[in-house]
Amino acid sequence: MRLKHIATTALIAVAFSTQTAMANNNNKFNYVVDRFADIEVLRYKVPGFENLSTRQKGLIYYLTEAAIAGRDILWDQNGKYNLSIRQLIENVYTHFTGNKESRQYKALEKYLKLIWFGNGIHHHYSMDKFVPEFDETFLRYEVTKLPESKQPSNIDELCKVIFDPTVAAKRVNQAEGEDLITTSACNLYEGVTQQQVEDYYNALKDTTDLTPISYGLNTRVTMVDGKVTEQVYRLGGLYSEAIARIVDNLTKAREYAENEKQATVIDKLISYYKSGDLAMFDDYSIEWVEDTNSQVDFINGFIESYGDPLGMTGAWESIVNFKNIEASQRTEAMSENAQWFEDHSPVDPRFRKEEVKGVTAKVITAAILAGDAYPATPIGINLPNANWIRAAHGSKSVTIENITQAYDEASHGSGFNEEFVIDESTRQLMDKYLFITDNLHTDLHECLGHGSGRLLPGVDPDALKAHGSTLEETRADLFALYYLADPKLLELGLLDNPEAYKAEYYKYILNGMMTQLMRIEPGKDVEEAHMRNRKLISEWAYEHGRSENVIEMVTIEGKTFIKINDYERLRELFGELLEEIQRIKSEGDYEAGRDLVEKYAVKVDSKLHNEVLERYSRLNIAPYKGFVNPVYTPIFDTEGNIADVMIDYSEDYVSQMLRYSRDYSPLTK
Ligand code: ZN
Repeated sequence: MRLKHIATTALIAVAFSTQTAMANNNNKFNYVVDRFADIEVLRYKVPGFENLSTRQKGLIYYLTEAAIAGRDILWDQNGKYNLSIRQLIENVYTHFTGNKESRQYKALEKYLKLIWFGNGIHHHYSMDKFVPEFDETFLRYEVTKLPESKQPSNIDELCKVIFDPTVAAKRVNQAEGEDLITTSACNLYEGVTQQQVEDYYNALKDTTDLTPISYGLNTRVTMVDGKVTEQVYRLGGLYSEAIARIVDNLTKAREYAENEKQATVIDKLISYYKSGDLAMFDDYSIEWVEDTNSQVDFINGFIESYGDPLGMTGAWESIVNFKNIEASQRTEAMSENAQWFEDHSPVDPRFRKEEVKGVTAKVITAAILAGDAYPATPIGINLPNANWIRAAHGSKSVTIENITQAYDEASHGSGFNEEFVIDESTRQLMDKYLFITDNLHTDLHECLGHGSGRLLPGVDPDALKAHGSTLEETRADLFALYYLADPKLLELGLLDNPEAYKAEYYKYILNGMMTQLMRIEPGKDVEEAHMRNRKLISEWAYEHGRSENVIEMVTIEGKTFIKINDYERLRELFGELLEEIQRIKSEGDYEAGRDLVEKYAVKVDSKLHNEVLERYSRLNIAPYKGFVNPVYTPIFDTEGNIADVMIDYSEDYVSQMLRYSRDYSPLTK
């Protein structure tokens, strides 16, 4: 599970420690790399990389190579024409000899930047297909000028996919009541209906199995000879060429493993990629979650299932990172007290974990982002996802602080606070405490929230179906919000002011009820799981606190503002909703979960929506942000071993994307 970046975090100018501010002044680091459509591309620093050992740098180098090698897999998972379209548009772009200031060329460039960002022809967040602003005739004419070997034989088909708004309109459709598979353009299913897929898995699943594999995690489901069939992502199977390159680099990385345990983790991952056996993936996940002594760590595989309308198949991703030892003292204090938090959570004791196992939480520095974590990336991750592994072996939870820091520094002085925050005293509270409470919120969400609670025996972990992701994020967020106001955080030395939590509460409600709407196009509903979760919590609290006027929507000079009148009561409301969401999860109460989502999380008030869009547009802030990676260059000794690895931050967005397409595209011919 992952915690996505909350829009306003990047938008609200927060106070930095004097140290950070000074470092920033002395050493001008240009965070903003590119800006187009609704997107801003940033770069991030990798502080501490130079101080790692040569061995660790070698390990990181090969792991980053294994990370970039999987890029095409995600592109193909996201849509079956994505790789062909990327190749087509890149070819036209790089061979273009006409006027580069022309409207058509500029529109083509913008489209290319968008599909790079979306890892395909759909927006990474809204899932809607990008609308090209260049003409079909322009594209077709430019194609005729390409060398013959670069002219696609299926240009008519590709043009239809690019230009016809009715074709592949949505990557993941979540609309209740529709066939979610046939109406979704993602390439995880072909020629099968939702009913057929559900019947297939229901027949396959053994509900008495206490350690079930993650069904469908690494497969594409198709119809072969009238039978529903899984095509497995593995060496010799689907995506074999890319997986071979991943395995090759993992094998090299293994030579630089920090210890035996880490070498075993890599071995198991290689075995899984070779066999495609999901039981082997579980073995690997257990080894991985138990490896808590290594400083370097990584994810590489089919992990999160947000891109699957049924929430089963994992999107390919990789993040390579190393522990920020100093900042990790914060999360260690939390995980050492995990049992206390579990025992005091405001849920029915039947749904609490009697023994919280090994919640390991750390603050990390990302060294590379790839696949589903690139260019848009989460700020926190909690894995593995398999419930039984989490229950028996615990989970690893991370906060990616060099990423949150880049967001914050890049957004300094955006004018957002002045526009949307109700008064000066609230702004001051946010200036002072939002950076730390936001980070603590992420820590609590990932390190304790997702790991808390338990299912009643026999409850299917997929019982909440299409609403599972939203409700799980809701649960983790509520756990974090509830405890953010707890005196325990002061006792643990994580906060120094009992009022600090109000900064995060205000931002959360403001975002959930208002400012996150800037990401939604006029007339559209809220669809993405994290956005739904924030809306659900905020709207529910607003409605249930209404008789006591806990949250108020006030109008000042024609503008709507959020006013929170009773923060203590708001905390209780968060606790009450947490109790209900945990019950829904523990009992697998699909109807109750669906009703909450449908009532609070989906529908947008169009008047308020338009107001937010209008006020927001005047600030000229990009609603979405993502990152380019640093470039790592190894230096070899005479025996071919890595003697050092150089890091460079200067590559721009276009150069990086074209380089990746040129040098790391095993799936395009
Ligand atoms: Zn989460």
